[in-house]
Amino acid sequence: MTESKFKHGLQTRIVRAEDQITPGFESFSTPVTRASTVVFPDLAAMRALDWKNDAQWRYGLHATPTQIALAQRLAAIEGGNHALLQPSGLSSISNVYFGLVKAGDDVLIPDNVYSPNRDHGDWLARDFGITARYYDPLIGAGIASLIQPNTRLIWIEAPGSVTMEVPDVPAITAAARARKVVTAIDNTWSAGLAFRPFDHGVDISVQALTKYQSGGGDVLMGATITVDHDVHVKLKAARMRMGIGVSSDDCSLILRSLPSMQLRFAQHDRVALSLATWLKSRPEVVAVLHPALGDCPGHEVYKRDFSGAGGLFSVVFDERYSAARIDTFCESLELFSLGWSWGGAHSLAMPYDIASMRTAAQWPRRGTLVRFYIGLEDEADLCADIEQSLAKLA
Ligand SMILES: *Cc1c(COP(=O)(O)O)cnc(C)c1O
Repeated sequence: MTESKFKHGLQTRIVRAEDQITPGFESFSTPVTRASTVVFPDLAAMRALDWKNDAQWRYGLHATPTQIALAQRLAAIEGGNHALLQPSGLSSISNVYFGLVKAGDDVLIPDNVYSPNRDHGDWLARDFGITARYYDPLIGAGIASLIQPNTRLIWIEAPGSVTMEVPDVPAITAAARARKVVTAIDNTWSAGLAFRPFDHGVDISVQALTKYQSGGGDVLMGATITVDHDVHVKLKAARMRMGIGVSSDDCSLILRSLPSMQLRFAQHDRVALSLATWLKSRPEVVAVLHPALGDCPGHEVYKRDFSGAGGLFSVVFDERYSAARIDTFCESLELFSLGWSWGGAHSLAMPYDIASMRTAAQWPRRGTLVRFYIGLEDEADLCADIEQSLAKLA
């Protein structure tokens, strides 16, 4: 047997030869740090750990340097102090519910909310002993009359998914603060760029990073962003108990897209507003629900509180076109694909039956609604595509 010149056997040497970040190697990309186990220098260091301190590494599920790098950038974009990452925008919504609400509590939810949030509230009400009540998204200061002693959480969405009503956020948060009720906004539509929730009194901002932050239509992730440390800690505790973690590889994809987000957002905004304005002149369309245009409920609030709009808006077709004809319109589009989500380079269109989605107030319009997401294709091509498809309605 030849005597090894190594202290350890081959298998030990393979296992222990982890490539750490090379000292002195600098580049612009954030290193991808993957971990389940995080190693402590000694037991005293392990025992001194405080789970409330985001800067201490405990276990891969809780955070890695890559994840913290993304969380810190997201907090910076919206002017928050803390951010937590969840594996989808919907799990961020779920994290807010489980972090703040317990049996016996009451939650107020806007009637136009992102529908899986509505389903989540209904589920907790049915099976977990909370009450979930829906309010008219244009209620403004009138929310005060709905707040009960057991109301714990008020959801806001600005503007509402699909129908785009713009709520008066400062009026709602002022009423909530007066009664010590926490407010959480789904701020995905503006990417945190065009609406600054913490300047308007909101406690928690939820972002579906799946959308503009990822920008590619190829990653699922979400975040909760907060200013107040106590609220952050409540969300963090629920996140740990539910075993919620994200992949550093997915974080690195989002970190790669973030520097171009403002430029992409501005381009989506410019082309979407131009196409929305053109659609308003079309005889097939009775209303264009784009917050920057006068048809949109809450347009005055939009002008007061928002600095831009991005790529998502809806149109309501004249009721003389049946839902089946509007389906044909959507399927005849060649550059707009049929699909959920948005925020990537590809344009999308989707018809909705809004009346069936409401309980607090009746949806006032009779024609079918189509939501458009304007991607990064040439404006002239998108316009021509909608035009050829409208021609098929005639
Ligand atoms: C897409 C979306 C979500 C959920 O994000 P996922 O990552 O798809 O779970 C939440 N809210 C709004 C407004 C969204 O558009």
